[in-house]
Amino acid sequence: MLSVGSQISMTAPEKFVLYYVRGSASLETRLPGEIRSSINYFNFICGNERPVATFNHPMALYAKAHALYLLNNFTVSGEALQQANHVINRSQFRGFLTYPGTDQVIPESSLSKLSQLMKQLASLLRHPPSPIAVCRYDDCYKENKRKEIYSTDFNFEGFVQVSCHWKCVICFHIKCWTKLRNETYEKKRDKDVFTQPCVTDGCRGQIYKISIIDEFEQIKKHKWEGNLIDERVAKQHVKQSKNDRNFIKRRKSMKEAKERKLKWRESNRVEELPEENKEPEVLKEIPENKPLKVITEQDILNA
Ligand SMILES: [Zn+2]
Ligand SMILES: [Zn+2]
Repeated sequence: MLSVGSQISMTAPEKFVLYYVRGSASLETRLPGEIRSSINYFNFICGNERPVATFNHPMALYAKAHALYLLNNFTVSGEALQQANHVINRSQFRGFLTYPGTDQVIPESSLSKLSQLMKQLASLLRHPPSPIAVCRYDDCYKENKRKEIYSTDFNFEGFVQVSCHWKCVICFHIKCWTKLRNETYEKKRDKDVFTQPCVTDGCRGQIYKISIIDEFEQIKKHKWEGNLIDERVAKQHVKQSKNDRNFIKRRKSMKEAKERKLKWRESNRVEELPEENKEPEVLKEIPENKPLKVITEQDILNA
């Protein structure tokens, strides 16, 4: 595949430039597949398999870091950028490189221009975009080099969202989910995973929904959705209805107590005379058929 310059006798810098320009052409397309292939060219001139051992320039490492950034591999992009910095600090780079067969200077072969580009990339790497999901398959890293899922990922076709009825929502790369389903549940179809234990450790929920989410974070496809009764919700309902029953009971006994009180009052009610018919208290104390006794001063002295 990497046959560029293999049949032509060239100096080490010429070979370096030829591979660099070929890789840059792929990178400039901004197509994920082409960007991936550009990394092969850059690796060839700056990686461990570098056949052009007698010549190196940090612009190849910068280009690799840039390609990795465009593929959302931010961590490894940062590592490549650090390597480029290391090469700049370690070696002397004088003059410029030109495009093959021309006098036209490759701008980033100038260290000042390259430093400027590297600073821009470092700034972007300090605030990388957020992923739309993170894959929860344990061996995902082996497959994808990272667990973060971006809608701009190479061959992105959506991601799988698995829901359990205890409210876990777990995301996977489509391939990772297929592997996990086959390995953990030993099931060939999503439909068969319905009611299986939740993927989350310690969760006693059951899987009831599997969907594919698109780049706009909308449901692209419902793969399977069950209709389980949420035990926790059911328990809440029981508790609620129990509370309701207690309330009704309490209200009934309060009503009965009130009625009893009213009945008692009714039976013990004292008829009161209207204000104007009331007998003066003083007169009530005087026996009716007895005349008033007149007390004289002598009576008082005799007492
Ligand atoms: Zn994954
Ligand atoms: Zn769960």
